[in-house]
Amino acid sequence: MPEYDVVVVGGGPAGISTAINCSMLGMSVLLLEKDKPGRHKPCGGVLPWITAEVIEDTIGEELHADVMKNPTELGLFYVPPSGRNKSGRVSNYKIHNIDRDKFDAWLMKVADTSNVDVLTGTRFTDLTDSEIHAVRGDEKIQVKYKYLVGADGVRSKVRRLISPEPAEVLIVGQELLRCRYDDVLSDCFSGFFRNDLSIAYAYTIPKGEDLLIGLGVQPKSSPNISEAMHLFKNWLTSDFSFEEKQLRTKEVWAIPFGFFASGAKNTILVGDAAGLCNPLSGEGIRLGIESGESAAAAIARAENGADLQLSYRTEIGGLANMVKGIHDFVLSLDDTDREQFVSEELARGVV
Ligand SMILES: Cc1cc2nc3c(=O)[nH]c(=O)nc-3n(C[C@H](O)[C@H](O)[C@H](O)COP(=O)(O)OP(=O)(O)OC[C@H]3O[C@@H](n4cnc5c(N)ncnc54)[C@H](O)[C@@H]3O)c2cc1C
Repeated sequence: MPEYDVVVVGGGPAGISTAINCSMLGMSVLLLEKDKPGRHKPCGGVLPWITAEVIEDTIGEELHADVMKNPTELGLFYVPPSGRNKSGRVSNYKIHNIDRDKFDAWLMKVADTSNVDVLTGTRFTDLTDSEIHAVRGDEKIQVKYKYLVGADGVRSKVRRLISPEPAEVLIVGQELLRCRYDDVLSDCFSGFFRNDLSIAYAYTIPKGEDLLIGLGVQPKSSPNISEAMHLFKNWLTSDFSFEEKQLRTKEVWAIPFGFFASGAKNTILVGDAAGLCNPLSGEGIRLGIESGESAAAAIARAENGADLQLSYRTEIGGLANMVKGIHDFVLSLDDTDREQFVSEELARGVV
């Protein structure tokens, strides 16, 4: 049976970052991804400016020009519950606009050239304390590991197998549309806040000639995702001259909307599997990449005798606390607070 220091389940940003960082620290690493190359992950594809530096620091690569989407650079625009009149652009704030499919394919190529053994089209199915089971087509695979990393996303099977607690999620729907809309939204990631649409956020993102619009709702809540989307389009129509011409794609997935879980024993969770996503913006890529670096550092410390879970929780503490703080903040808001939040963000600007 093959044997690795580290087996990583999931080839998204968190799993790839973990695998590359473990490999850079001299460990033997196997990365399992259930999808074939060219996988698609529903995503807005916006990255705060700092993410490029995080990528350079953690995996030693510059954000590749080929993964960018037009306009490549976006501003940040906020719309409060009262609508257009009190909306505005946050000063000095820049965001990268990426094509998520190309971004993930590029990251996977970096993993491939980093001494990581990558098995795509391979679905993890079960685990023991020292072995994982997976299937690849008709073939059953067993691999021995010293450390296991669950990077298998918001509906993580690894997390379900090691932790009885259900992981809270926010359902996020998005539509890519050919449409007419106000120029003010054309070079910004725009966040819309209004309780009857979403407890958390709604957004628009220009993608080439199209506009991506989306929002998050809690499971089994009212309005449901399609009712909320209808309300959002009405708001865009009345305040931002929105007129739909053609629906290009429509998808529904989820983001973590709860608390951080580090893992158990010799298994660590990273990225969405660990609950690391910003509940006010849906930002999770940077958090996934950072958690991969922290997981690798914690594993290296465990090799020198430290407690794995404690080391990881210490490494990742700042990020986990930030997510929990924002989650509590989101749940505490009513529309008066949202109005104030936007007004304060616009008044302070961000440098
Ligand atoms: C609609 C939407 C819009 C979003 N927009 C943004 C955005 O603009 N910016 C941003 O930063 N974040 C955004 N996010 C969040 C972001 O997509 C996630 O936080 C990020 O993808 C998390 O990375 P990850 O590697 O943890 O998980 P994922 O990217 O989900 O990767 C997990 C991988 O594990 C694989 N996998 C799952 N199960 C198995 C198994 N059993 N065996 C093997 N492999 C398995 C999956 O195929 C997948 O490739 C958005 C999320 C949604 C839903």
